[in-house]
Amino acid sequence: MKFAIFGDIHANLEALNAVLEDANENDCSHFVCIGDIVGYNANPKECLAAVKGLDCPVVKGNHDEMVASDIELVGLNPLAEQSMTWTRENLTQEDKTYLINLKLVRQVRDFTIVHATLDSPEGWGYVTSKFHALESFGYQYTPVCFIGHTHVPAFYIKTSSVEELGGRVLDIENGKKYLINVGSVGQPRDGDPRASYCIYDLGGQRILNRRVEYDIKSAQRKIIDAGLSDKLADRLSHGK
Ligand code: ZN
Repeated sequence: MKFAIFGDIHANLEALNAVLEDANENDCSHFVCIGDIVGYNANPKECLAAVKGLDCPVVKGNHDEMVASDIELVGLNPLAEQSMTWTRENLTQEDKTYLINLKLVRQVRDFTIVHATLDSPEGWGYVTSKFHALESFGYQYTPVCFIGHTHVPAFYIKTSSVEELGGRVLDIENGKKYLINVGSVGQPRDGDPRASYCIYDLGGQRILNRRVEYDIKSAQRKIIDAGLSDKLADRLSHGK
């Protein structure tokens, strides 16, 4: 059984469709969403409909929560604030109710999913080092946990200490714990503009990080046509 595990879609429909196609071509029969379906890019409604259509486990991201609440937008950078205001105007109350009711943490089969960290799911901290990973591992009761939020794919492994592993393939071994950042579908920030997600092969006990090319130009055109900042369009070309 293969799971496609993806998140930080951020309203990028071209990237989401490319990832789902790649997952199907790689025989994924199950899907899991790590949150941040909306924000930044121009197709929040369409991406939300696509994720709902998969009828799969989903956890809440910080953008999902903020878009669905009435809280005042203070302390955000101008780009995030502009897209947040636009996204609030372009979702229905039904969409927002769905997003606000998503859980922060879920267990699926023998693994856990959370958008940010397990030590403080609602604090929206970032796991950007093995020290942050260690804090999250303290609250991880399954061998494998998948996260997102940084938009940078990463593999952390815990034995007697925590290490970050390079590469795109990870074999799961008994007695160890794994914290996996699946990267971002719709706004990668590791310098590689291709969409990022992971395939978890439960039978083979193997996790793959996949990078998928998509129609960036089309996604950019929609951002400009929606009146959103050209900086949001531009960053997609650079994976930043
Ligand atoms: Zn995000």
